[in-house]
Amino acid sequence: MREIGHFIGGKQVAGKSGRVSNVYNPATGEVQATVALAGVEEIRAAVENAKAAQPKWAATNPQRRARVFFKFVELLNQHMDELATLLSSEHGKTVEDSKGDLIRGLEVCEFVCGIPHLQKGEFTEGAGPAIDMYSIRQPVGIGAGITPFNFPAMIPMWMFAPAIACGNAFILKPSERDPSVPIRLAELMIEAGLPAGILNVVNGDKAAVDAILTDPDIGAVTFVGSTPIARYVYGTAAMNGKRAQCFGGAKNHMIIMPDADMDQAVNALMGAGYGSAGERCMAISVAVPVGEETADRLVEKLTPKIESLRIGPYTDEKADMGPLVTKDAYNRVNGLIDRGVEQGAKLVVDGRGFKLQGYEDGYFVGGTLFDHVTPDMDIYKTEIFGPVLSVVRAKNYEEALDLPMKHEYGNGVAIYTRDGDAARDFASRINIGMIGVNVPIPVPLAYHSFGGWKASSFGDLNQHGTDSIKFWTRTKTITARWPSGIKDGAEFVMPTMK
Ligand code: NAD
Repeated sequence: MREIGHFIGGKQVAGKSGRVSNVYNPATGEVQATVALAGVEEIRAAVENAKAAQPKWAATNPQRRARVFFKFVELLNQHMDELATLLSSEHGKTVEDSKGDLIRGLEVCEFVCGIPHLQKGEFTEGAGPAIDMYSIRQPVGIGAGITPFNFPAMIPMWMFAPAIACGNAFILKPSERDPSVPIRLAELMIEAGLPAGILNVVNGDKAAVDAILTDPDIGAVTFVGSTPIARYVYGTAAMNGKRAQCFGGAKNHMIIMPDADMDQAVNALMGAGYGSAGERCMAISVAVPVGEETADRLVEKLTPKIESLRIGPYTDEKADMGPLVTKDAYNRVNGLIDRGVEQGAKLVVDGRGFKLQGYEDGYFVGGTLFDHVTPDMDIYKTEIFGPVLSVVRAKNYEEALDLPMKHEYGNGVAIYTRDGDAARDFASRINIGMIGVNVPIPVPLAYHSFGGWKASSFGDLNQHGTDSIKFWTRTKTITARWPSGIKDGAEFVMPTMK
């Protein structure tokens, strides 16, 4: 059995705690490896390595830091097929989808190749008599990132690329469900020229997270995962004096206006609702058609497409989606479908009991569609994180707008319409972080910032884009006066520009 350890001080090391967790092949249900679960000792070892390496890295000029990322991007492209296959084998998503996972991470690495420009400070000449004032951005020191299972390449890169480019050392605690790719990424960073100790990967569960949150040498923590854990990590990190940004769960709606191009809307819902088996924080899980006639047309067109989804293991190149990640996820999603039926939603397409010949023990759930869902139902309130789409019928635009406005989560939302006025009103009034106008999954590109509102995000700075540079640096402002501007005698009054 393959044993996955940690990556500390520039090399793979075995776990010391004696605790391990199984890593499954979600298509077959077989255990394919074990992963070490770190305790305080391993986190401390990573921190000590990071502490020893960070000052020299921070003092390395930004062009040289950028060059590591130029090389890393090259290596990622060279190893794309290998990485995508490894990712799919533990996550279950199709290989093409895993490439998307990797490429969205790679794009943030491309973004931070601009670090010499991005980290530049500000300078004011002549802020007073012979006074110059300047602000510089210095690294926080040691940062840590805790990531979810659903994007085991993209989210680690969203975290460590800006952190490291800014001159920090970084400790990554990936999801214990698909830990292999993060270790490969760390190896490739070393191959790209990163000094040992700047990027460490420590596998583990709550014990490792708690060790990070209470470690006195870690200055900033970034987290992506479910909302209850995001809330916990944010509170605990803040209580321990750390800077924190924590991103949580989602329930993303798509409003379909009567004037929308229905074929485009249906195709968008298929990809955004069922791609990656719905295991995306930006997946659309609620469709809100406006008006009965729009709703009827939508359900009529969606139904046969969902029924003919091609579901298969990651080795099936033609599959639209794969299995869920674990048996727990499989049981949870099936349980929520049962609950939807009990609470009176109309089950139009039932994905329960889906079986694939030769993969009977895999965690497959078929594409599922509910109609006549209402806001009081559990399937509406809960993030299902599976291939389940709920149709909530709205009488008019205001009623449709009200649904995502009142929902607990505020990650993403989309509107399908040809009416520019409606789209503009929607984007302006909605209380959600990322909006798509005829775009179902509006994940901002690397040079903009990613983050939700409400229970989808805790903290005030988003991921990637210029926000990430702010998060991973501290501002220092220097006021310098030269002797020609200094008057004789002591000044006791508060200096002003009066
Ligand atoms: P999760 O919250 O179960 O796990 C996330 C991380 O937290 C993992 O590294 C895990 O080991 C750790 N963890 C789990 N339980 C913990 C505990 N009790 N104490 C401390 N740490 C703990 O999330 P997941 O199932 O891996 O990922 C799916 C979730 O992530 C979904 O809710 C999804 O919406 C969310 N997500 C959000 C975004 C975003 O940007 N908002 C992006 C991707 C995924």
